[in-house]
Amino acid sequence: MPPDQGFLCDCGKPATIRQAWTDANPGRRFYRCGAAWRSVCDFFQWRDLEKPHGWQKTALLEARDVIRAQKETIKLLQEAAKEEPKTEADIAKEEGESSIEKLEKENIILRSELQASHQAEQTLRHFVLISWVGFICVVATVFHGLR
Ligand SMILES: [Zn+2]
Repeated sequence: MPPDQGFLCDCGKPATIRQAWTDANPGRRFYRCGAAWRSVCDFFQWRDLEKPHGWQKTALLEARDVIRAQKETIKLLQEAAKEEPKTEADIAKEEGESSIEKLEKENIILRSELQASHQAEQTLRHFVLISWVGFICVVATVFHGLR
């Protein structure tokens, strides 16, 4: 709260107004030193000289408890709202990471399969070439033998 204009603390600093929310003094205002909260000066004085009483006091206490409960609910809702998108994003991120990992693994498997098929193709070519050479040799030998 802003300093109460004109009211000075014992130490000469302008006093600040605060509000008590205890069971005995709900909403009752008091002065505190404006220099620093209970650091050097421990000045205390009620601003509202009359003590809370009657139905007003009961109403203030009820309102205080309602506000406290609502603040707690708001806090819980804010925490829930903060956590929810974070976990959803985390899940999406994890899913993305795992699908990337899966694709990388598939890529490696495909590459090794491609390499294996290349090797098989080369082996087949060699085999075909050797077969041809062998066939030509056999044919040549047969021709030579027939002459
Ligand atoms: Zn003071």
